[in-house]
Amino acid sequence: MGSYFNEAIETMGRTDLDAMIDERIRYTVRYAAERSPFYRQWFREQGIWPEEIKSHEDLRKLPIISGKTIREHQPPVCVNFEMMSVERNDVFTIHETSGTSGTPKTFFLTYPDWLRFAEKYARAFVSQGFGPGDTLVVCASYGMNVGANTMTLAAHRIGMTIIPEGKCTFPVRTIEYYKPTGVVGSVFKLLSLARRMKKEGYEPRESSLKRLVVGGEAFADESRNYVAEVWGCDAFNTYGSTEGTMCGECSRVAGLHVSEDLVHMDIYDPTTKAFAADGECGRMVLTTLLKPGDRCGTLLLNYDTEDTTVVVSRDRCACGRTHMRILNPQREAETSWVLGTPINRVDVERGVFQRENMEYLTGEYEAFITGDTDSHAELIVRMECGDLEACNRLLVMENFVRTLLKWKPMLKNAYDEGTFRFGIEFVPPETLEHYRSKGRPKRLIDRRKVTAVVPPL
Ligand SMILES: [Zn+2]
Repeated sequence: MGSYFNEAIETMGRTDLDAMIDERIRYTVRYAAERSPFYRQWFREQGIWPEEIKSHEDLRKLPIISGKTIREHQPPVCVNFEMMSVERNDVFTIHETSGTSGTPKTFFLTYPDWLRFAEKYARAFVSQGFGPGDTLVVCASYGMNVGANTMTLAAHRIGMTIIPEGKCTFPVRTIEYYKPTGVVGSVFKLLSLARRMKKEGYEPRESSLKRLVVGGEAFADESRNYVAEVWGCDAFNTYGSTEGTMCGECSRVAGLHVSEDLVHMDIYDPTTKAFAADGECGRMVLTTLLKPGDRCGTLLLNYDTEDTTVVVSRDRCACGRTHMRILNPQREAETSWVLGTPINRVDVERGVFQRENMEYLTGEYEAFITGDTDSHAELIVRMECGDLEACNRLLVMENFVRTLLKWKPMLKNAYDEGTFRFGIEFVPPETLEHYRSKGRPKRLIDRRKVTAVVPPL
């Protein structure tokens, strides 16, 4: 048992927690019908009577909306922002998603939205062992997304000091001068920071850092463990999105706790069009939960995040928390189907970050899928080596191939038959293609989809 940010809520028994969730669902659905132009019309069109939605089970009867729905109800498609669910005077901040998968989606946040988002991060940070007196360097970006900003508010509520760097390229003296006890960043950025420190004569393991918060995207356990080893401290997965899904691993590292009183999460299987049971993989579908009387800038019901996860457990965790735990979500946009088998970026990463490999690799990599038909494919992986001459290529290749094929029997068959092949290349530092691209690097690129359509003359 550790300390809690909000003990009464975080350790609440299942019956009371479910009752609280249902009360909030009733209020939230009523709020949607009264305050959101989109939902008012949507309920009418779908023949939904808001007062019939009484519990979390009833929510599953409602249709699912997606990012596409949001884009279709805001400019440039519509004149107004139809998802906005408060008066414009009550909007505190306006955000946009990065737009990596199309037009950016707009989100309006009230100040109570900020407090709810911050509370989710605050609970995660405290569950990871952070407390008053800690100093956290935030390397997540302070731009139009909500993560870094609401983490900063969370720190204030815990009594922590924030160093708002916004990226991991800060000078090493920041660590020397201010003695931070934690850093929030991605695995790759934390590894690159460690390399930079070593180059400047500092040993990351001897720094003031006690904990790392790894986030921004899903990572294989192997890469998280490696970053923890390099820094000589614990590393906790934390996940968050502008839609309000902040959740994080507790000190027991047994899944990410979802604040069930603040956001309701269901798992949906888009192929069978049914909700999945606990333990089954599916898409995260979320619903904002408002306490009666609360206001919300952009309210979502049954929103398909297009990220996939699995509910690990709804039982009380060894840390004492009762809120559900999920696996670190993966982006479905980062999954490609190869000869009937899904390959996610995280699968590739797991193969790269096999512990033995890390004696030779930096962890930086990029992968491409090629092949022109459904009958054969090749996975080309370019891995960065600190010292090409010293690299045990055969060992790295064997570890990679074995790990990638381990849980993929169909792909293993294709590999044995020669219809699925690997092309593994070792490259010197800073030469990968993604170094030249802006924004978050795309590390698994499906080149089979790139077919030029030449219009007839
Ligand atoms: Zn826990």
